[in-house]
Amino acid sequence: MERFADKHARKLKQLSDAAGTQKKAPYMMHFDGHNNRIDRIVRPAETLELEEEVWNEAVFAEGVDPWARFLKIYLLTALGESGVNCAHCCTGGLNLLLERFADTPELERIHEHLTDGIEGDYGIAAQFLSEIQGGSDVAANLTEAVNTGNEWRIYGTKFYCSAAHADYAVITAKPSGSDEVAIFLVPSWLPGDKDKEKRNSFVINRIKSKLGTRELPTAEITYNGAVAYPLGDLKKGLSNIVGIVLSHSRFISGLGPGAQMMRVTEEAKHYAGLRTAFGVTISNFGLVAAQLKKLDKYTERTTAASFKLQREILRMEQSDRGESVFDSALQGKQHRFHVRLLIMLNKMVATTDAVMVSELAMSIFGGHGLMEDFSSHPRMYRDAVVLSGAWEGPKNLLLTRIFMDIQKSNEWYPVEELIRNLLADAHGDTVEGLVERVGLFLDHGTLMGVDDKTIEVCEKWEKFCFDMMHAYQDVARREVALG
Ligand SMILES: Cc1cc2nc3c(=O)[nH]c(=O)nc-3n(C[C@H](O)[C@H](O)[C@H](O)COP(=O)(O)OP(=O)(O)OC[C@H]3O[C@@H](n4cnc5c(N)ncnc54)[C@H](O)[C@@H]3O)c2cc1C
Repeated sequence: MERFADKHARKLKQLSDAAGTQKKAPYMMHFDGHNNRIDRIVRPAETLELEEEVWNEAVFAEGVDPWARFLKIYLLTALGESGVNCAHCCTGGLNLLLERFADTPELERIHEHLTDGIEGDYGIAAQFLSEIQGGSDVAANLTEAVNTGNEWRIYGTKFYCSAAHADYAVITAKPSGSDEVAIFLVPSWLPGDKDKEKRNSFVINRIKSKLGTRELPTAEITYNGAVAYPLGDLKKGLSNIVGIVLSHSRFISGLGPGAQMMRVTEEAKHYAGLRTAFGVTISNFGLVAAQLKKLDKYTERTTAASFKLQREILRMEQSDRGESVFDSALQGKQHRFHVRLLIMLNKMVATTDAVMVSELAMSIFGGHGLMEDFSSHPRMYRDAVVLSGAWEGPKNLLLTRIFMDIQKSNEWYPVEELIRNLLADAHGDTVEGLVERVGLFLDHGTLMGVDDKTIEVCEKWEKFCFDMMHAYQDVARREVALG
């Protein structure tokens, strides 16, 4: 980790900063000189070097210590998205799917490509769910998977395809005649075709122009009969995509904000100790000092909570492997439910807070904070907005999902008990205050509706969820302080 942290602080940071300038955004070459359609995505040399450095760490290889993997991913996310972190996260997600569902020689080879590499080359993955008519509503997918007898072929258009340069995409599609969404793996090139730049029967229509994560090519892709491999039970696509792929990417999306907060806060503190105004160093102004204190608080609570959640995930995995971790089956079931809720709460709260933290840190730099050539703060800020606004479920969707989950579980796990268990080490007044507030939501029973009462309940629900997660974060922060 020391070696990696050193490389991260110097080489990887410099590469990501250099690739992050406006002039270096990826672009498309649709045709080669002989008019063959190639849809080549051209990315700057800095991104390619950064990508190679990151993938050569082989964090998804078998036998890598889970904490080492986690810490490396944590440090990498401090770079911002940087044209690598989205694909790195998707590679982890596809790896989890293949651990369970790689049951053919093709899939086994792809799994090897992603984890251990083949002849020194590591596979890169992406995940394409969203279509123009629905991102949150994956069940509304229109993309079709046709079984030709000996293989599956995909037809349809995916409208938000980040990491479009990837070797493999996890996609959702409905098998012909079915209303159920299934999961497929689509290689970007069939074996032997990558060097010839002959894509697997799909075209990249264009790369999107977007507010943040500009180093990352996000494209619109039309599949015209791409060869695909089904992953898992075709009827369980939606539950596998949410339970395996989105859980993983939501967890990583909630980890990044803590790392980015750590970086912008450290830089703001450093700058505040250098800059003078009205004859004093600006860190001596009470207002600046209060803001720096707030930055520290959010950085520490967000980071500590992600580490605590990682520990809980590892306990769940230990139990899945048959190790005796919990006193009873019920305790194990409750723990799994905690993890499920915390992943959503953490993603939502950490990414929302990161926008505020990023903006506040930028303000410490005054005008310099807004200059693209002075620091990476504007880039980090734009990335934070994308992460909170759209990726892996916007806030409203997560608030709805958490609401429905708690409503459903109330029969076997009363919500008052859930709150007391989740926040076992929080201040008693905080916990009982939340317990008192939660009844309103169960009594009202829905977030659907535009009447005054429902709107009031929705506003209170959002505040309630944020308060609950902040209480969890503060427990985690205290645990770190106490060692
Ligand atoms: C830069 C970028 C890169 C992306 N990359 C990818 C990618 O690689 N792969 C991919 O699959 N997708 C990708 N997306 C798409 C992203 O996942 C979607 O934008 C997101 O899921 C939201 O879907 P939508 O845009 O259709 O919004 P909608 O689902 O139409 O949502 C619009 C609004 O309605 C609210 N809403 C929706 N459903 C509910 C509900 N049940 N309850 C309450 N409110 C609700 C939302 O919160 C939002 O405020 C990317 C998006 C961006 C911006």
